[in-house]
Amino acid sequence: MSAETAKPQAPEAKPVEEKQTNCPACNKPIKKLKRYYRNGKFYCNKRCWAKATKKPKEEKA
Ligand SMILES: [Zn+2]
Repeated sequence: MSAETAKPQAPEAKPVEEKQTNCPACNKPIKKLKRYYRNGKFYCNKRCWAKATKKPKEEKA
């Protein structure tokens, strides 16, 4: 019994522990020149920061 299953090796997601390069708000790569540092994270701009700051689920009644 030989389990010969030639399954294609899928590129596994390796643990990427690089510097944050994407905006947590819009998930776009942040340019070095255009970055907005707030609370230990980089954002595209103040708008993205505000967007990521306030939770979308949290609605004020
Ligand atoms: Zn952004």
